[in-house]
Amino acid sequence: MIKKVYRRLVPEKLRLKVHIELRKLKSIFLAGNTYYCPCCEKSFSRFLPKGNGLETRPNAVCPGCGSLERSRLLYLYLKNETRIFQDQPAILHFAPEDALKKFFKDHLNYIDADINPNLATHRVDITEIPFPDAYFDFIICSHVLGHIPDEQKAVSELYRVLRSGGTLFLLSLMEPQAAKTKEDETLKTPEQKLAAYGEKDLMRLYGNDLAERLQSPDVQIEIIDYRTRFSAEERQRFSLGDGKRELIYKITRV
Ligand SMILES: [Zn+2]
Repeated sequence: MIKKVYRRLVPEKLRLKVHIELRKLKSIFLAGNTYYCPCCEKSFSRFLPKGNGLETRPNAVCPGCGSLERSRLLYLYLKNETRIFQDQPAILHFAPEDALKKFFKDHLNYIDADINPNLATHRVDITEIPFPDAYFDFIICSHVLGHIPDEQKAVSELYRVLRSGGTLFLLSLMEPQAAKTKEDETLKTPEQKLAAYGEKDLMRLYGNDLAERLQSPDVQIEIIDYRTRFSAEERQRFSLGDGKRELIYKITRV
């Protein structure tokens, strides 16, 4: 009830600021050396939990910078395996995570985008991207596609604005054991979707057929489980997740 009133009375942008300040306050009480965040290079006694009403993931959120398991892993991949931070590529970053966004603050051609104008600098509909063909060298699109009703339109737009040789990094919540994506148009309410898909605003829960759904003559797809590059101790210390949210689909435009 209090939460509902708070949400109604306080604008979203201000709520986000309050959320960040509260998290930073909590970080003061979490001094320690058990967990380490590669994104902000700080250590803590633990990370913060993240729940969605169905399950709670312990040690998910870095109290210092707000990074999640997937953002820490993607950051490590981008830093170690690409030149995205060194060169000045044209980058389109959907649903930009603060933990990653800060690394692009000096980039000359970096577009952070979201359909919700409170969450990014540029309001962009992923099914109608307002940029010319072959414009971007990199696109980061993490945990967005599963929320989009017209998935194929979004995918064709992503491929359209990617230059030849350019790379799209796509991540999503998945059920890695499932052969087929779970998608049921009769599920309408947030409660039904949470129970079926694991998040209340997902349109579907991807299975192992995600690569088939993304396939096109225009692209080559590589699936990277970058967690396997780290020891069990490192995976624990950086808290790199269980693989349901962290598989990296590296999609290169031919
Ligand atoms: Zn951090």
